[in-house]
Amino acid sequence: MLRRTKILATLGPATDKPGVLEGLFDAGLDVVRMNFSHGSAQDHIDRANRVRELSRTTGRRVGILCDLQGPKIRIARFKDTKVRLEEGQAFALDINLGENDGDNTQVGITYEPLAQEVKPGSRLLLDDGRVVLDVVDTDGKRVNCTVVVGGDLSNNKGINLLGGGLSAAALTEKDKEDIKTIGKIKADFVAVSFPRCAEDLHEARRLLEAVGSTAGIVAKVERAEAMEVIDEIILASDVIMVARGDLGVEIGDARLPEAQKHLIKRSRELKRAVITATQMMESMIENPIPTRAEVFDVANAIVDGTDAIMLSAETASGRYPVKAVEAMVRICQETEKQPSVRTSTHRVSENFERVDEAIAMSTMYLANHTKIAGIAALTESGSTPLWMSRVRSGIPIFAFSNHEETLGKVTLYRGVFPVPFEFQAADHAEVNRDIINKLKERGQAKQGDQFIITKGDLTGQAGGTNALKVVIVGEGLTP
Ligand code: PGA
Ligand code: MN
Repeated sequence: MLRRTKILATLGPATDKPGVLEGLFDAGLDVVRMNFSHGSAQDHIDRANRVRELSRTTGRRVGILCDLQGPKIRIARFKDTKVRLEEGQAFALDINLGENDGDNTQVGITYEPLAQEVKPGSRLLLDDGRVVLDVVDTDGKRVNCTVVVGGDLSNNKGINLLGGGLSAAALTEKDKEDIKTIGKIKADFVAVSFPRCAEDLHEARRLLEAVGSTAGIVAKVERAEAMEVIDEIILASDVIMVARGDLGVEIGDARLPEAQKHLIKRSRELKRAVITATQMMESMIENPIPTRAEVFDVANAIVDGTDAIMLSAETASGRYPVKAVEAMVRICQETEKQPSVRTSTHRVSENFERVDEAIAMSTMYLANHTKIAGIAALTESGSTPLWMSRVRSGIPIFAFSNHEETLGKVTLYRGVFPVPFEFQAADHAEVNRDIINKLKERGQAKQGDQFIITKGDLTGQAGGTNALKVVIVGEGLTP
């Protein structure tokens, strides 16, 4: 059985070591994430080249997602790299303090408006909430706080405001520079960090178009205010990321499970793909096996309907990057056997305006209600397989396309597998034959299997899917 849930792994120093990226490919990685919060443009270009090269030599098309840093607000640095804060003590964040002059009473901050955007009583969460400060007062430059939860605090740690409300724009000057690199890399996806509204995503799309990129836009949902306008954010993007790290800090960890379930459900309803991210296998940064709680977390995200699950530090800097992917693969395979993740009532009582969309939905109804070995969707833009894969099913969807961009996008969709395919034949029976031959070559079709093929009028135009055909391998006109 083919695994349907896709696995994203973040690249970093651990995956640069000899043999590790190859190991991730072998283990079944589907998409790599390049984190633009770390590393130089050249590092990212080099890594992208290695991924493309391995995709070619292994025949496994692995997608590339470039993740912009965004306006993560950070403290500056300490004279001695790190300090220890005790509960109840005073501590200040000060715009005027030198960048390297922090000590255990104060530290610099690079985000100018902070002192205007907080007020007495505001709660600041540093280092993903490991250190908590309550604001006592501010004079427009300096924010005086009391330490509510103490601990070690080191250079450049992030700051979140509980409840959200910091106004920083989603795309920084650095992000705009990085978008130029991303254009060169020909990324399949670009993730926008901390978007507040649809306009932030439209702006990213315009900037990408200006550098000739057709990358799909991933909205990282990680601000409290994004949750309030979530439908417009989903509709403005191609993919949603449940960015549990920052989101959990802003809305509080206890509200995360509900938020995750809502984001996955709503993204699927609005015909978008969705990634569940952060701390899925956190303990595997140090250990070769996951905790039971992590096993359940991955399984539950799959049951919720996520398209993809993501690894961050586990693969970028952890000790067991390949084992982390292998553990995810194992959990996906078992979880996907459950009947509840293979049946669907998605949109059964809806009417469709578009024929191609109606064909996609009819295909899934047919596939889930009769004996079908697989679906071959001939696709220009990737929309047909995306719509199909919003429906829960156990049937693999093979996206046949001759467009590199389309093959890259479908790497992320649950249950969809990219198949590079040049179709020359002008005749439908011949195209069907070529499709079945291709599946046989790949070991994905055998004599007597029933397949559904969807396609348009062989014009090479997007949006043209108007045919659904059921073929039996080895019978009639089929090889
Ligand atoms: P990050 O985003 O890893 O870039 O912070 C994901 C998250 O916040 O969960
Ligand atoms: Mn984040």
